[in-house]
Amino acid sequence: MSLANYSTDEAKPSNWLGVTHRDCRKCGELKPFEEFAKQDRCKFGRRPYCKACEYAKRQTTEFKVWFKEWRASPEQLAKAVAYRKSSIRKASLAAYAQTDAFKETQKRYLRRIPEKKRIWTSMYSGRVRRSTPPWANQKYIKLFYEIAQLETKATGRKVEVDHIYPLNGKDVCGLHCEHNLQLLFKSDNSRKCNRVQ
Ligand SMILES: [Zn+2]
Repeated sequence: MSLANYSTDEAKPSNWLGVTHRDCRKCGELKPFEEFAKQDRCKFGRRPYCKACEYAKRQTTEFKVWFKEWRASPEQLAKAVAYRKSSIRKASLAAYAQTDAFKETQKRYLRRIPEKKRIWTSMYSGRVRRSTPPWANQKYIKLFYEIAQLETKATGRKVEVDHIYPLNGKDVCGLHCEHNLQLLFKSDNSRKCNRVQ
């Protein structure tokens, strides 16, 4: 059956009965519907260009340049932000969380945590070592850590030894010595986060 026989009514789904193919507007070939991406407002609910032609177009430099600009346009950025906050996005993330692919990724991530912790600890102890001046009083320093443990037991809240001037501060770096130490609750210390207060 030639597609030229269709009237303008062919956009109506009721007139698709028995129709399984459409022609591609680019390559002109008559192909089955599966070869076209779905789109409601188009003829037969399919896009006018076949998947092969659309794929070829996406590979061209002109398209890539245009797409990059289009995606960075204010309207598209606003749309992207709105989508990220939308309930549709949340629902799709929730659905993704139930898939095997996600569980596999999560497992892989959790397996890497002990490794990360080990690296972080060794980096931290190295930084402490490099920040300790020769005149630092190790007895006083040890006392701080012992008091922190006792305070934790006494108050029931985790008490930590904090560097008043952080060892890796942004503008100024402190020393690991008795004059630069103070006791803080863990919650307060996390909030302080490498800043001088
Ligand atoms: Zn085509």
